[in-house]
Amino acid sequence: RIVYLNGDFLPFAEARVPIMDRGFLFADGIYEVSAVLDGRLVDNEAHLARLDRSLGEIDIANPHTIPEWIGLQTELVARNGLTEGLVYMQVTRGVYERDFAYPPAGTAPTVMMFTQAKTVAANPLAETGARIITVPDLRWKRRDIKSVALLAQVLAKQQAAAAGVAEAWMVEDDAVTEGSSSTAFIVTKGGALVTRPLSTALLPGITRKAVLRLAEEAGLALEERLFSVSEALEAAEAFYTSASAFVMPVVAIDGHVIGEGHPGAHTRRLRELYLDMARAGV
Ligand code: PLP
Repeated sequence: RIVYLNGDFLPFAEARVPIMDRGFLFADGIYEVSAVLDGRLVDNEAHLARLDRSLGEIDIANPHTIPEWIGLQTELVARNGLTEGLVYMQVTRGVYERDFAYPPAGTAPTVMMFTQAKTVAANPLAETGARIITVPDLRWKRRDIKSVALLAQVLAKQQAAAAGVAEAWMVEDDAVTEGSSSTAFIVTKGGALVTRPLSTALLPGITRKAVLRLAEEAGLALEERLFSVSEALEAAEAFYTSASAFVMPVVAIDGHVIGEGHPGAHTRRLRELYLDMARAGV
């Protein structure tokens, strides 16, 4: 596997980062993930725009322009012969003697990218639907920043893994904030698509945005508002979205069956529409 590190394309085993990297010491960095389908990056410019915004929010100068990022990603995908999977990008505040405050201006950021081969379109879990659990949201207050500080999500996902399910939805003040690595949606018995409105309390999902646009085009009623776990348990359908899961049906929450216990019609339709969009090379 070939990875990218600070200007070089290297074999995986040769890509090394010093122990004083601020990503390692403080999780002082930003990441982004774009899917690859049929050898093409999916909705990638939106991911790069969010990367730029996240970096700006923590005062790291974006090391590359959007066209430069696309050039590097495309080369990495080609060098790895990747047709389906993910491209992971990470920028940290670089390497400097350990001190909480920022290192001197001009300290080079650490820029890293790798690919992962993965079946994202014909994912068998999308056929059966995922079972999920709910967990308390233990995170900080700037969840709109795609920071590599992911300990709360690590703990949430491990609880899901220990329970033998695919995802954990995080709950705060009786409302679902989002999944540990996804955006949470429900479809009410009245047929309305409900998801939490954007704020600093959650990540502005790129897949969320695309799905809301596709749902609107398909004529679904949209409600961007908070929803509780008990409302989710009573919903007709539930699903979550992310760059790697696309639109993933949810068939059980905390052991309670959702709807008919199989992927709902609106959810299946939205997954198809999303796959069509991705294959059209958006
Ligand atoms: N929310 C959180 C906390 C995430 O980590 C992710 C993706 O990793 C998402 C939502 C989904 O975002 P996107 O659709 O941009 O992948």
